[in-house]
Amino acid sequence: SMELGSWISRRAAIGPDRPAVTYGDSTLTFADFQHRIDCLAAELAAGGISAGDRVAYLGPNHPAFLTTLFACARVGATFVPLNFRLTAPEIAYILDDCGALTLIADAALAPTVDQIRDQTPVRRFIALGDVDGWENYDDLLARAQPIADPAHPAPEDVAVIMYTSGTTGRPKGAMLSHGNLFWNNVNSLLSFDTLSTDITYVSAPLFHIGGLNVTTLVTLQKGGHVVLAPGFDPAAALSAIETHRITTMFGVPAMFLFMSQVPQFQTADLSSLRYLMCGGAPVPEPLMRKYADRGVTFAQGYGLTETAPLALVMGIDESDRKIGAAGNKVLPLSDVRLVDADNAEVPPGQPGEVCVRGPQVMTGYWKNPGATESAIDSEGWFHTGDVGRQDDDGYIYVVDRLKDMVISGGENVYPAEVESVLYSHPAVAEVAILGVPDDKWGQAVTAVVATVPGESVTLDELRDFAAATLARYKLPLRVEFVDALPRNPSGKVLKYRLREQFGAVPT
Ligand code: AMP
Ligand code: MG
Repeated sequence: SMELGSWISRRAAIGPDRPAVTYGDSTLTFADFQHRIDCLAAELAAGGISAGDRVAYLGPNHPAFLTTLFACARVGATFVPLNFRLTAPEIAYILDDCGALTLIADAALAPTVDQIRDQTPVRRFIALGDVDGWENYDDLLARAQPIADPAHPAPEDVAVIMYTSGTTGRPKGAMLSHGNLFWNNVNSLLSFDTLSTDITYVSAPLFHIGGLNVTTLVTLQKGGHVVLAPGFDPAAALSAIETHRITTMFGVPAMFLFMSQVPQFQTADLSSLRYLMCGGAPVPEPLMRKYADRGVTFAQGYGLTETAPLALVMGIDESDRKIGAAGNKVLPLSDVRLVDADNAEVPPGQPGEVCVRGPQVMTGYWKNPGATESAIDSEGWFHTGDVGRQDDDGYIYVVDRLKDMVISGGENVYPAEVESVLYSHPAVAEVAILGVPDDKWGQAVTAVVATVPGESVTLDELRDFAAATLARYKLPLRVEFVDALPRNPSGKVLKYRLREQFGAVPT
């Protein structure tokens, strides 16, 4: 069955004593896990939660996150995971937007929620621990009986609403149906060799689609074992790989980079790893080599929250041949194409917006038909907002975000291309390209540069340097100097900050 609620129950019937979820020193077998799921489902139902209602979860990775996800499915409710780093007003916005009736939260976050309790539709507050004014999750499970009559949601019913981060505006709730999650996993199983003997290490946040649905759910669905960590720590990840004989792990490149930088990396026993699964950004060549030296290979994927998440994949045999690629287009059950501004497909070599069509594409944005309509066109193509370029072998390289693109003199300029050229100038430590409004050109290609300490460079020197490789219209018309580029905690340059600072408008 496609319904999420059956994934664990079927496994519990086939292999009740197999390990399902390990957290710290304790392991839940599939039978234990299903029992907890069904007890929580009964409690939710007893508290008035029924099909279509929203139940929110706020906290770091914990088995209760997964229990709540599956328990919601057993009553036909929609699970809404929240980023626990959000501020109280941000949490209030999402709880109100999704209309959550029950909230399960880590005890440490209860005081934050208590600040905004009255601004939310939540009627029932359950904490992982003892908190005044909250029910205790463990007590509640201990006294519950498993649900007698689970619901059976249809494939198109919404299983999860996941709010996308977004650098501008309010977060939007991507509605992922039972079918979306199911078909993502079928696509994944047909592309990667997930095994029932896999032991996957999960330290990426479960409230993001990468942590939730790249290796985590598919491994459980396959009958494999999830070793859950509350969060990511590079040394702890290396120790866990040794201790638990981990076979797969999902991460973004920065996580694998941090792991490679701790001294333990050189001596850790990594022999149990079958491959590392990397997504969110391409794996840079030096990182791939560092791991190759330790006998570890990468599989890669490209995707978004809205595509649940896989849209493009690359197997371990391709990753080292196609450095920098996001993947090729042969996911068995979905299609990808690149289109121009008129929604016409572009030929290989030309940049175009990456569009995805398939059974894993979200059903829409929650209570936001306008945003849904502009994201999913009348032929069912989801427009990702990413600009890609396809090579002659069908591999797609993500070259930029559409909203970062600069249009100068009617020509599209992709910042990432100009930045990669300017980065090789010896005086340039960091560079970001923006489009600043300009009377003559519409937008002027503007380089924001942080120089190497003790070095300096002029606009003309930068232009001369880049002129050998870049067309004239791509060369910077202006330069601004900063000490360092503003970055988010995962190292991504915050272009919107630079746009604000230098008067550039998003295109
Ligand atoms: P999110 O919706 O927060 O999951 O982020 C999705 C975004 O991450 C995409 O729109 C891409 O810009 C980026 N992304 C994900 N995977 C890759 C990849 N393999 N290569 C390049 N960019 C990626
Ligand atoms: Mg996004």
